[in-house]
Amino acid sequence: MVILGLGSNIGDRLAHLEAAVRALAPVMRGLRASRVLESRAVLPAGAPPAWDLPYLNMAVCGDTTLAPLDLLNWLKAIESRAGRVSRGIWGPREIDLDILVMDEVVMASAGLTIPHPELLNRDFALLPCVDVAPDFIYPHGVYKGKRVLDIVREKNVALGEHLKDTGMRVHV
Ligand code: ADP
Ligand code: MG
Repeated sequence: MVILGLGSNIGDRLAHLEAAVRALAPVMRGLRASRVLESRAVLPAGAPPAWDLPYLNMAVCGDTTLAPLDLLNWLKAIESRAGRVSRGIWGPREIDLDILVMDEVVMASAGLTIPHPELLNRDFALLPCVDVAPDFIYPHGVYKGKRVLDIVREKNVALGEHLKDTGMRVHV
């Protein structure tokens, strides 16, 4: 099973999420989608105020026969079809598709690190994982062997002022 994190903070954000989920269907079986959350953009000090655009975030899970790098290439193709162009690492994006976790895969290469290195630091990525796969066993580091649900409880990850449930859903 693979869990992907999706985010969008430009244009019709929900439509970008919906288009991405549709484009994933050919390579992911048994797709399940989380709630759609809204979060404040994570920005470095001095970032242009115009980048301070709130994100819609969600996760999907499913099964794929693709190898990790092939899946990443598929995700990058979906991103560019949505019109995503490089605006720098903190810049706004039509759609961001990240591989959060993938079975027991632990890898770190120049272009792909799994589990995603920021997953455990980002409430907006971690909380949606509980919606789609609460029993997923995290395969790496200090949380190795723990269920996603228990990690979220231990870290006290919760909705709050900067992370809200929009009440919107993406139909899969
Ligand atoms: P962000 O880190 O904000 O998602 P990008 O989407 O621009 O930024 O990703 C930058 C690069 O991160 C991608 O080109 C990709 O090669 C690399 N990358 C490394 N690990 C992952 C992962 N687990 N999922 C998606 N991209 C990854
Ligand atoms: Mg990305």
